[in-house]
Amino acid sequence: MAEPLLEIRDLTKHYGAVRALKGINLQVQAGTIYGFIGPNGAGKTTTIRILAGLIRPTRGHSYLDGHDLATDRIPAAEGLRTLVEVPQFYPGLSGHENLSVFGRLARAERGEVDELLEAVGLTEAAKRAVGGYSLGMRQRLGIAQALIGNPRLVVLDEPMNGLDPSAIHLVREIIQTRRREHGVTFFLSSHLLHDVESLCDEVGIIHRGEIVAEGKIDELLSGSISGFRLQCQDSAAALAVLEEKLANAKPHAGEGGHVIVTGDESLLAELNRVLLDAGQPPHSVIPIRETLERYFIEMTEGVMG
Ligand code: ATP
Repeated sequence: MAEPLLEIRDLTKHYGAVRALKGINLQVQAGTIYGFIGPNGAGKTTTIRILAGLIRPTRGHSYLDGHDLATDRIPAAEGLRTLVEVPQFYPGLSGHENLSVFGRLARAERGEVDELLEAVGLTEAAKRAVGGYSLGMRQRLGIAQALIGNPRLVVLDEPMNGLDPSAIHLVREIIQTRRREHGVTFFLSSHLLHDVESLCDEVGIIHRGEIVAEGKIDELLSGSISGFRLQCQDSAAALAVLEEKLANAKPHAGEGGHVIVTGDESLLAELNRVLLDAGQPPHSVIPIRETLERYFIEMTEGVMG
């Protein structure tokens, strides 16, 4: 496998007696959209603040392209952009002017300012002073600022925070476009697991300062079947049979005349046998796959218990 673009090794942070990070390790390959998820207080912002150079770790290192972000910061941070907490702008300048200032610093291409303002839905407000922008508008401008000049790695702390559904949609689109067309790599924290599942290729789940699961989302969720949706000739009859013979699979009626049972692959043979014996062979048996949300709850609550 290629060298990772971002590598975090044994990253540890203590705030007095609070052990916010307990030696985490993770790797992000170039071109990935990596979701960093965890319950409140898990250590996400602490990790991102360390990557942004806002605080120092107690122990451990993070590397961008092999450069240590603490000791070799200037070359390491060249291709890195971070958006943590509320982004700061010149309040008297317009959105366009603010972005143009950052664009010049980042050696942006011509037309990129307008393109990014449009992508985050700020074309109409581009000439207004940022001092009058709402929180969501500032957040969108902050995302545009993080993307200008096509950095190699963009680290975003809760980028969807405070955004309305159409802005969330725009931000998802722009992240995908920048990755696809410019090869930008993203590392983002979020509580919106549905968005993470549809946007990210890989996730790291952090809980109480430790990584409890990491990998490609489809691999983490593959094989994790939580039940089956059955289509039968006579749903009521099939349900009655299952209630009698397979009560522990919690059979119940689902939408569209389906019968739903709970269980993993090991249930399948018995399910078929019971229905065949009763003269109710199912027309179709569709596995219900685990969602990232359920997986997340299992991983984090499992550790707590
Ligand atoms: P959330 O989802 O709520 O934003 P998070 O995963 O970003 O949480 P962090 O903000 O990194 O979590 O906090 C991790 C732990 O470190 C928590 O126990 C928090 O209370 C503690 N912590 C964070 N910042 C400080 C600080 N400046 N001083 C003391 N403790 C802190």
